[in-house]
Amino acid sequence: MKAVALVTGANRGIGFEIARQLMLRGFGVLLGARDAEEGQAAAERIGTTWLPLDVAEAASVREAADWVRSEHGRLDVLINNAGVLLDEERGVLDFDEETVLATLQVNLLGAWRMAAAFAPLMAKGGRIVNISSGAGQLSRMGTWAPAYSVSKAALDAHTLQLAQALKAKRVAVNAVCPGWVKTRMGGNGATKSLEDGADTAVWLATEAPASLTGRFFRDRREIPW
Ligand code: NAP
Repeated sequence: MKAVALVTGANRGIGFEIARQLMLRGFGVLLGARDAEEGQAAAERIGTTWLPLDVAEAASVREAADWVRSEHGRLDVLINNAGVLLDEERGVLDFDEETVLATLQVNLLGAWRMAAAFAPLMAKGGRIVNISSGAGQLSRMGTWAPAYSVSKAALDAHTLQLAQALKAKRVAVNAVCPGWVKTRMGGNGATKSLEDGADTAVWLATEAPASLTGRFFRDRREIPW
């Protein structure tokens, strides 16, 4: 039986490329997307299944978990990739509560919701990869995009908590900074290709030592929180 991987926000960008690379490695890939047309089109491009999934909606996450449980009975790899960048132009004192809440809703709570719903379907050897960002590194915190940066720092804290909670079950949980990648979010000036941007997440989901958990990586190397 094929190992089953679920990637959130996989209709485009880094998530799509992670899904594509996992397909090439023999996984049964569930391509999570919130838009039906885009999800179906993306899944067709790589010959896999589209899973309706809006990580900001508790009911959508619950329905997706119920479907995976009944169709597959388990999940081997979860990639929490869905993310939004809504405050590139704002400073920390230019506070807009709606923007901050909308950012946390996807970047932090989306991944947390997914972990709570899907961890019960994961067994020994399972792997969860949270797509974070260098913008969330506390050791290098700057002033850029405060809601986005704080949401990624919070995602990192969640990653550490989850890694400890799932250690006894031998499910590895790590965070990744993909680097600056050419996507709609990263823009055309970005320095990394999609293939390179997806590489570390795919490595953590497949061949990285299973003992690595509760850590933060970029370019397959550990980096400080
Ligand atoms: P992107 O091209 O903007 O793609 C973002 C993806 O997330 C899209 O598929 C989008 O779906 C999905 N998404 C947003 N909200 C969602 C929700 N509520 N439910 C489900 N899916 C949702 O961005 P990207 O560059 O590939 O980013 C992927 C991840 O890498 C993000 O977590 C991002 O923060 C992180 N990252 C990116 C860079 C970079 O340079 N690109 C750098 C560091 C970290 P729709 O198409 O429906 O909007």
